Amino acid sequence: MAFLKVVPLEKALEVIDSFPLEPKVERVPLGGALGRVLAEDITSPIDVPPFDRATVDGYAVRAEDTFMASESEPVRLKVVGEINAGDVPQLELKPGESVYISTGAPLPKGADAVIQFEDVDREGDEVVIYKPAYPGLGVMKAGADIQKGQPLLRRGTRLGFKETALLSAVGLTEVPVFRKPKVAVISTGNELILPGEDLRPGKIYDINGRAITDAVRELGGEAVFLGIARDDRESLKALIEKGVECCDIVILSGGASGGIRDLTSSIIGELGEVKIHGIAIQPGKPTIIGLIDGKPVFGLPGYPTSCLTNFTLLVAPLLRKLIGRESEVRKVRKRLAYKVFSVKGRRQFLPVRIEGDKAIPILKGSGAVTSFVDADGFIEVPENVEILGAGEEVEVTFFG
Ligand code: AMP
Ligand code: MG
Repeated sequence: MAFLKVVPLEKALEVIDSFPLEPKVERVPLGGALGRVLAEDITSPIDVPPFDRATVDGYAVRAEDTFMASESEPVRLKVVGEINAGDVPQLELKPGESVYISTGAPLPKGADAVIQFEDVDREGDEVVIYKPAYPGLGVMKAGADIQKGQPLLRRGTRLGFKETALLSAVGLTEVPVFRKPKVAVISTGNELILPGEDLRPGKIYDINGRAITDAVRELGGEAVFLGIARDDRESLKALIEKGVECCDIVILSGGASGGIRDLTSSIIGELGEVKIHGIAIQPGKPTIIGLIDGKPVFGLPGYPTSCLTNFTLLVAPLLRKLIGRESEVRKVRKRLAYKVFSVKGRRQFLPVRIEGDKAIPILKGSGAVTSFVDADGFIEVPENVEILGAGEEVEVTFFG
């Protein structure tokens, strides 16, 4: 059976965009929020620090008591107590008094400066001060770091350790994040085996299963690798059904040649609807996009580089939309290192490696795993272009 109808890439993207999937929000404990994407703007519920606190070990004073201090005529203040970090000071400093205070401890009422102990002498119950202190010396004011109500993080931010530290600083225990879309990954082919199995004659190790699973995870989705479907109806159908049951999206790879692709599409058609069967791009023309029970099902090409190119073109934008990371730039402009030829009348995607400001084409072909492993991304050669010259500006789309 021939391809149903080859459509332009834009049409395929429109169809994918129209699928009934929306970003969902869940609340996760702060301890499990690393790598997740914020679903709401976050403002601070408190002042940080929550109180005026000492930034040095020393003596809390009323700065005006020290204004007359000098080397020749030091000021003596009575030490009336001690405040340590975590204490709640009960006393109020009166004129002529000071209190020993440690770093991080709250300032007592009346005090407005802390002189570090290295700069003074202690004589019995007195501290001897040789230099005037100014209000604010040795003090971090409440809210000086973060003010209550201050915007902290924007929706769409991917949480790294800096962001989780910030959320910890304001005492948040739960974080609203976009739910990870759950993606079923299925490899297909009688020739495929998994690492750990004997490399028997005619067999090759599965690449796409691993690549797609981890590309989904890198993007922030949850991937479930369902294993390898054999090139027969029962095996394929069983795994597709399992995928639709357990996940939001199903991705198959392989089955593009020998009429098997029609098997995949006929099963998708039987369980749901084939929306697209054939996209006017090279590589990856024999791609299937379907919908079963409202869940997108993708049939990507078997050749690893084609598979990952199409994953990037078709699936990655959908995942980004669901994870709230649409705005993330995944493209850079570089200059082509040398001339490449393309087939006229075909919109082609070529893997390239980036070195400095150069994009270096990788010409091993899409059957080689190293084509995409060595590549950082790919460039597009429009259908009306046959030659891209050395030095020409190209846009590189990163894989994944
Ligand atoms: P197919 O589309 O199934 O005819 O596969 C095209 C080519 O890609 C064949 O050489 C397959 O062996 C290869 N291939 C398909 N799936 C995978 C996979 N998961 N890992 C590695 N190579 C694959
Ligand atoms: Mg196959």
